[in-house]
Amino acid sequence: MGGGALVAAAAPSVGTHSAGAGEPSGDLGARYREALLPVFGTPQRILARGAGVRVWDTDGREYLDLLAGIAVNTLGHAHPAILAALTKQAETLGHVSNFFATAPQIELAEKLLTLAAAPAGSAVFFANSGSEANEAAFKIARRTGRPRILALTNSFHGRTMGALALTSKEAYRAPFEPLPGGVEFLPAGDEEALAAALAPGDVAAVFAEPIQGEAGVRPLSTTYLRALRRLTREHGTLLVLDEVQTGMGRTGNWFAHQGIEDLQPDVMTLAKGLGGGFPVGAVITFGQRVHDLLQPGQHGTTFGGNPLAAATGLAVIGTLLEEGILEHVRTVGAQLSRDLLALGNPLITEVRGAGLLLGIGLARPIAKQVAAAALEAGFILNAPDESTLRLAPPLIITQADLDTFTAALPELLAAAATEGEN
Ligand SMILES: *Cc1c(COP(=O)(O)O)cnc(C)c1O
Repeated sequence: MGGGALVAAAAPSVGTHSAGAGEPSGDLGARYREALLPVFGTPQRILARGAGVRVWDTDGREYLDLLAGIAVNTLGHAHPAILAALTKQAETLGHVSNFFATAPQIELAEKLLTLAAAPAGSAVFFANSGSEANEAAFKIARRTGRPRILALTNSFHGRTMGALALTSKEAYRAPFEPLPGGVEFLPAGDEEALAAALAPGDVAAVFAEPIQGEAGVRPLSTTYLRALRRLTREHGTLLVLDEVQTGMGRTGNWFAHQGIEDLQPDVMTLAKGLGGGFPVGAVITFGQRVHDLLQPGQHGTTFGGNPLAAATGLAVIGTLLEEGILEHVRTVGAQLSRDLLALGNPLITEVRGAGLLLGIGLARPIAKQVAAAALEAGFILNAPDESTLRLAPPLIITQADLDTFTAALPELLAAAATEGEN
């Protein structure tokens, strides 16, 4: 495919990797469509570089990144702490098999256990993604020997077969059945249904996200979360909290469940923000009973706990701690929520979420159009459903940068609303 890009107009034949002329961002868009499976749809832009909370596309246009790779780029782009950690680690050991261990891996595990206030006997398994972390949690649940697993409506736990079995969205599931069995979905927030489902005492685990991110940033109520903890404890069922999106400071606490008294889970899964952009996931088991479920040889991974990933995770946590970023997240997150509501815009019905994971509820199903208008205006955010805008910016974002978005939003909403009428 070398050279094809420059002579595209002269040699555009089907079945080659040459690309058509006149594409935005040069011919990269066409080459993407030819070379990559289309599971993500057409990419909105092709990005070339980032610095702090800004990214630039291949045409040199600048964007304020209010999505952070979907709650991943905790410290924004090209952060010096991540660069230093990765460089230093790559200069020493980039990868070892899990026949061996490295200091960063052990330190990151210890750090996570401390941040999670995990009791004695708690431990960590490292994976590479959120789906993989949930796969491991699924296997832990199976090891209880109990046949049933509960998940909630509107849940999202990932796209691999096990994680998909725990994900409620029919459109994601249907093409891949049969999925691993034994999973039942309960209406999120319905305490009576939960109590009834747990009553027979044969439920291995309940999986839940404290804030359902992909479903449109929908927090489970404190009452329901408390009931989840109380009832699972009563019936010897594991409470698995998926904090892949809500963890690592995103909500202003290290983990969202820490914002609610006595909500410590039996298992917690993490990924997204943990590596600040480097792929890493983790499962934390709380206490000795859960620790003992997965025995030597029953699970594994080649890359999980890789020293590059571990060093990056340590850099992310170290920076969040040293710079008091969680406090910052609470302050600017609360201010942003207030400011969005204070716009008094009739198209904004509510602002959901916590810290810097916010869903702006819209009165009309125009979220996709608003997100498109925002991109044109230089703001990256997304529409997890037709009437929600999701904001999940880097945790280091300043109030001033958030203010520019709040100021621009009424016009973006108006443009999308008018477009809908035509
Ligand atoms: C993104 C996400 C996942 C899946 O993570 P991947 O890294 O994409 O596999 C699982 N659970 C939640 C809550 C998520 O937001």
